[in-house]
Amino acid sequence: MSPSAIETIVNNPSLESLETYFENSKRSYIDLNNGVNIPKQLIGNALKERVQSIDHETCEAGDEDTFFVADLGEVYRQHMRWKTNLPRVKPFYAVKCNPDPQVIRLLAKLGTGFDCASKAEIEQVLKAGVEPHRIIYAQPCKTNSYVRYAASQGVKQMTFDNTDELYKIKKLFPGAELFLRISTDDSSSLCRLSLKFGAAMDTTTDLLALAKELDLNVVGVSFHVGSGASDPLAFMNAVQDARTVFDQAETFGFNFHTLDVGGGFSSDTFDAMAAVLSSALDEYFPSNINVIGEPGRYYVACAFTLACHVIARRTIADEQSGAHSYMLYMNDGLYGNFSSIMFDHQNPVAQVLKTGERFYYDTMASQPTCDGIEYSIWGPTCDGIDRIAESIRFSHDLDVGDWLYFEEMGAYTKCSATRFNGFSDSHDVIYVASDPGAKAMLGMN
Ligand SMILES: *Cc1c(COP(=O)(O)O)cnc(C)c1O
Repeated sequence: MSPSAIETIVNNPSLESLETYFENSKRSYIDLNNGVNIPKQLIGNALKERVQSIDHETCEAGDEDTFFVADLGEVYRQHMRWKTNLPRVKPFYAVKCNPDPQVIRLLAKLGTGFDCASKAEIEQVLKAGVEPHRIIYAQPCKTNSYVRYAASQGVKQMTFDNTDELYKIKKLFPGAELFLRISTDDSSSLCRLSLKFGAAMDTTTDLLALAKELDLNVVGVSFHVGSGASDPLAFMNAVQDARTVFDQAETFGFNFHTLDVGGGFSSDTFDAMAAVLSSALDEYFPSNINVIGEPGRYYVACAFTLACHVIARRTIADEQSGAHSYMLYMNDGLYGNFSSIMFDHQNPVAQVLKTGERFYYDTMASQPTCDGIEYSIWGPTCDGIDRIAESIRFSHDLDVGDWLYFEEMGAYTKCSATRFNGFSDSHDVIYVASDPGAKAMLGMN
């Protein structure tokens, strides 16, 4: 399919043409002539080229730092998948999940909106050429100076969930377009957000009454079912609650026009979530109501692969059995890109990339095994909590200079990395695009 044909689909989503897109993309995803998985091949080539260019015996400090390979084709496919499964919901990408500039650039070109929570995020998205009306400042408890900044830039859409915030907005940005964020049952999610944000359902009429009294412009409802949600019914219940608030708003004389269904989508549960959400929307909201969403993880989690270097090894001898196990120390850990273990409750799985001159990416030999040599894997800092795996087995003898890789490292990883102990928090990203549409849009060759 030509790039312009793809652009036509993106801008005029009709189910029929999207289906054609998927037919074609299946063909480009797996090359049927030789069974090659094209994204894996591109990622593997990029990994190989980089690790083989580094000689840890002679390189400068930092040359062997961890690095990412990002497949922007994956982001593009996720966008197409969203449009197919949730045609009513316009995505506003949650920037905090991974503010990678190329991801932002691609999504800006694809026409998504953006969910920002700080001045810096708003600024980054505006600088990428995104118009202010494509931004929602989706942080119910905002910094005064950031609200003034949003007002000065014409970023009008923002959320609130309490009376203090309404007074703040009245003072700093009375012309804002407000979304009342309600709390949800997020007990089935990885990262609960409703402990911190969201108005309880028994407070919404008071909030609407105050907003009316202050003559503020409330335009809709927002919610978030929790990041990494796993129960599709959470969406059903939240949509029902949102309906209740829409009805309450009408009695106060508001004319709500937009529902914001938040984030919480993951790649592996997306189809089920989207099906429940779609039917809930159709049941409770007529088609004249706009619906937006704030997916973060969904777009980027699977698009980023991280490669790490083994910097040290400690041999542990079991005196009774005479067997050896090893502690491996890598140049990235909990205070770095594996911050997701701490903050996002993830469990990244190590795979072997290279030992000596051998390259094992995406083969049986890269996988952990049931028996074989036992390793624990640790980060580079001096803190004992900096551990990535307590016990994992490989058939290989891994040593200093070898590389490991970790898939699905795109969400809530590098954005929450620190510089603790003087280790770098900025890492190279090598970009590939396994989808011709993404390639054309970004002018990659
Ligand atoms: C974090 C966040 C998101 C993104 O959540 P995901 O689970 O990554 O999709 C969306 N909206 C708000 C308000 C958030 O805080």
